[in-house]
Amino acid sequence: MSKMKAEYIWIDGHQPTAKLRSKTKVIEGSINNLDDIPEWGFDGSSTMQAEGHDSDCLLKPVYYVKDPLRGEDHILVMNEVLQADGSVHESNTRAQLVDIAEKFKDHEPWFGIEQEYTFFVGRSPLGWPEGGYPAPQGPFYCGVGADEVFGREIVEEHMDACLEAGIEISGINAEVMPGQWEFQVGPVGATDAGDQLWLARWLLYRISEEYGVNATLHPKPVKGDWNGAGAHTNFSTKSMRENGGMKVIEAACEALGENHDGHIAIYGAHNEERLTGLHETCSIHEFRYGVSDRGASIRIPMATAKDGHGYLEDRRPSANMDPYQVCAALIKTCCS
Ligand code: ADP
Ligand code: MN
Ligand code: MN
Ligand code: MN
Repeated sequence: MSKMKAEYIWIDGHQPTAKLRSKTKVIEGSINNLDDIPEWGFDGSSTMQAEGHDSDCLLKPVYYVKDPLRGEDHILVMNEVLQADGSVHESNTRAQLVDIAEKFKDHEPWFGIEQEYTFFVGRSPLGWPEGGYPAPQGPFYCGVGADEVFGREIVEEHMDACLEAGIEISGINAEVMPGQWEFQVGPVGATDAGDQLWLARWLLYRISEEYGVNATLHPKPVKGDWNGAGAHTNFSTKSMRENGGMKVIEAACEALGENHDGHIAIYGAHNEERLTGLHETCSIHEFRYGVSDRGASIRIPMATAKDGHGYLEDRRPSANMDPYQVCAALIKTCCS
């Protein structure tokens, strides 16, 4: 029987921002569905998920894709973390999303997440002069040319890898700050959005590693007059997408305004450094929504306002947010 490699990926207990971990299991035979992938375990005392005297945690495979880096039959497996007794671990935010997605499934929620990130080499963003600064922001967003964009070969390789894996990546662009980029995942359902975004992040880190480059999701990687990094979350339900949806979108915006603090609490650590009211953001202390307004908390796209139905863009989540928590919060607030 032939052997294949499964990369088991999970989310650790690191605070305030969880990190990805992974290790490889060689499996005999072939994998045709999720049930063929065995459960596995790891040392939770090394991932901030257990104490040393009782350190076993379980990995429960919940989603898998082709491994675009190893090729052949190899796979990447997303896992939920369980305690040794099989109960849900407190770091496992996916389990909560699964419950909420099931409860509100008749609303058919869709998500499209814009993941911004910044390449670093050592202590400087990629392409920045050692210990110094590039020219002020302006020409870099969606730029072209060796003096304006840095790291495109990694970005292209990452996009190809996502496509090969079957992740619903819908585009990429160079961002406002040099060395900063974005990719989008979606629109897909809530659990898929979470799983695919985490896997796409893993691929980004893994591919960047080959180039000696580190991709960071810090919301404000360079202090001062430089754009932060967010994860705008585009959201719609069936009734928002149908005729008359604008009313449903406005009601959702009102509900989001009433729950602003609760959302901010799970929209990513250090987000207050990014949501200042400058650099195409609304202050973290305010809530506003508006059509085509990139200075608002929630933007209703122009096309949605024109058509009278469509989706809303929550611009508040930071690049380092947990999509399982963000998707769950949006469904809960907008569909209840
Ligand atoms: P921006 O203009 O803010 O940069 P992008 O084009 O980067 O927007 O991202 C928009 C995202 O919204 C994409 O991921 C897209 O798939 C997603 N999207 C489009 N329509 C919907 C919808 N009806 N519901 C949820 N997400 C959607
Ligand atoms: Mn975008
Ligand atoms: Mn962007
Ligand atoms: Mn956006």
